[in-house]
Amino acid sequence: MDCIFCKIVSGEIPSVKVYEDDSAIAFMDINPLNDGHVLIIPKAHAATINEITQSDFVAVMSATHKLAAAVQKALNPEGINLMQLNGRAANQVVPHLHVHIVPRWSGDGLSICKWEPMAGNMEKIEDVAERIRSEVEN
Ligand code: AMP
Ligand code: ZN
Repeated sequence: MDCIFCKIVSGEIPSVKVYEDDSAIAFMDINPLNDGHVLIIPKAHAATINEITQSDFVAVMSATHKLAAAVQKALNPEGINLMQLNGRAANQVVPHLHVHIVPRWSGDGLSICKWEPMAGNMEKIEDVAERIRSEVEN
């Protein structure tokens, strides 16, 4: 499969790796938004949150927790954004699931995860909630 992150997992293309376990690896983003921008991915290919198995997603999130602690100790940022984009409409560029750890400092000029809250229509919120509730698998 022609997937750049699968090639990083196999070692076919180089990466600056910072962590590896049975199911996940973490490496430095080559276009960092800030110092310490790390990506965590499953070793098994899955394009998005809707394709990855629950156990691989848990493994990725567990590695993310570990790496966030390491980034905090190493760089002492004032905050950390976690980002995980799914699909072109959500601005996902590399179709192999990944979590971004982006360390933040006040005044760093980044505008990620920043929006003006606007009151929703409660009837619509209730209606959409019911549609989701009926699809939740136990
Ligand atoms: P996105 O799919 O938009 O969530 O982001 C993909 C991310 O992967 C971007 O931040 C890229 O800088 C990063 N990226 C792409 N290719 C590589 C690579 N070979 N090594 C490290 N990071 C990469
Ligand atoms: Zn892949």
